Amino acid sequence: MQTSMSNGVPLASEGSSIVQFDLNEEQSDIRAMVRQFTTQEIAPYASEWDEHDYFPRAVYQKMAELGLMGMTTPEELSGTPLSRLTAAIVYEELAKGEMATAVGLSVHNMVTGSLARFGNEEQRHRWVSRLANGELLGAFSLSEADAGSDAASLRCRAERVDDHYLLTGSKMWVTNGGEADLYLVMARTQPSKGAAGISCFVIEKDTPGLTFGKTERKMGLHSSPTRELIFEQCAIPTTQRIGAEGQGFKIALSSLDGGRINIGAIASGVAQAAFTVARDYTRTRTQFGTTLSSFQGIQFMLADMAMKIEAARLLVYEAAYKLDQGQAASMYAAMAKCLASDTAMEVTTQAVQLLGGAGYVRDYPVERYMRDVKVAQIFEGTNQIQRIVIARALLQEYS
Ligand SMILES: Cc1cc2nc3c(=O)[nH]c(=O)nc-3n(C[C@H](O)[C@H](O)[C@H](O)COP(=O)(O)OP(=O)(O)OC[C@H]3O[C@@H](n4cnc5c(N)ncnc54)[C@H](O)[C@@H]3O)c2cc1C
Repeated sequence: MQTSMSNGVPLASEGSSIVQFDLNEEQSDIRAMVRQFTTQEIAPYASEWDEHDYFPRAVYQKMAELGLMGMTTPEELSGTPLSRLTAAIVYEELAKGEMATAVGLSVHNMVTGSLARFGNEEQRHRWVSRLANGELLGAFSLSEADAGSDAASLRCRAERVDDHYLLTGSKMWVTNGGEADLYLVMARTQPSKGAAGISCFVIEKDTPGLTFGKTERKMGLHSSPTRELIFEQCAIPTTQRIGAEGQGFKIALSSLDGGRINIGAIASGVAQAAFTVARDYTRTRTQFGTTLSSFQGIQFMLADMAMKIEAARLLVYEAAYKLDQGQAASMYAAMAKCLASDTAMEVTTQAVQLLGGAGYVRDYPVERYMRDVKVAQIFEGTNQIQRIVIARALLQEYS
């Protein structure tokens, strides 16, 4: 399909301003590969992992073999760099099988990408290849108990003493926490300087002075561990500071647009999976002597779900495309994350409704989709924060 519109979603030929909704050959091949992997290695086990809070580390090794652990890493550091758009397609496909694994992978790639971008030569060579080839798993630690949406108010302290820093304090909500080998941690080096007083450190799991607190007992995303990090006089060599002192918050923010697009893609994948289960169920379930899908009230629900999924998905692709082109993408990334996660919450709730009692029990995956996807409205910046970002961009544009 071609039109003369210039602000659409050019999938077929990135760089073209003509709207084309077909994937190019590379994207089609990667989607087919990830779809097959998800169908064979993730989807059949997802409810068991959910039931037992099981973290499938071996699956990450298999994803590394497919190049998915180095999607944001240059080739010379063992990466298999993909455009943001192609990466969004990967996350979407993985999330159709299970959201938790897609989220763990997104965090890992965020860490790998940040180290590749902001690390010095020695740091890049020490860690990035091993992250990209799956030997190491990464985690990203910005949030604290009293610093969530207002992350710049974080208090975990990193005090410089000679050739090292002493870290004291605790971090919360760390995805891959306890399982990851490497932690990208934001800590305060200057108490009086707000966001400019935050620095970024890379910290290995077995560092003395670092312990892991409680694992959160969550409503969903059970196979993704979320854990507290506790630092007690934890000595980190200055060589493990990433970037300059005071640059930590900027490093954390630099991966936000990509991270938000990933979460939008993941939410879109979960919504599509929920829709498919609900549609198929209504075709076979009979009540009042006919299939549910023959009732117009049900058809309208399915039509609304499909429309909203498609709109959210296209916005995710557009945000990814803009980021790939080096265009201003922050507002679009916020819109994509917000719309896709709100849509996914609505669609998964409707999917449970369409299955009736069967939707509320674990025989079908829709209750898991609904429990899992709720967090997409909360992390990577809550959807209220996304709306603040969007409104700020819109108002600045006209001021
Ligand atoms: C499962 C899970 C995994 C996570 N993984 C990570 C991770 O790997 N690394 C990491 O660093 N963090 C992680 N987080 C933390 C996550 O980013 C925070 O939970 C999120 O930023 C919100 O912070 P908060 O929970 O402190 O909520 P709060 O900031 O206390 O917000 C509470 C409510 O107030 C609203 N609110 C706050 N400020 C405003 C405002 N100005 N205007 C309007 N409404 C407002 C919020 O939108 C929310 O609805 C994770 C969280 C969860 C639940």
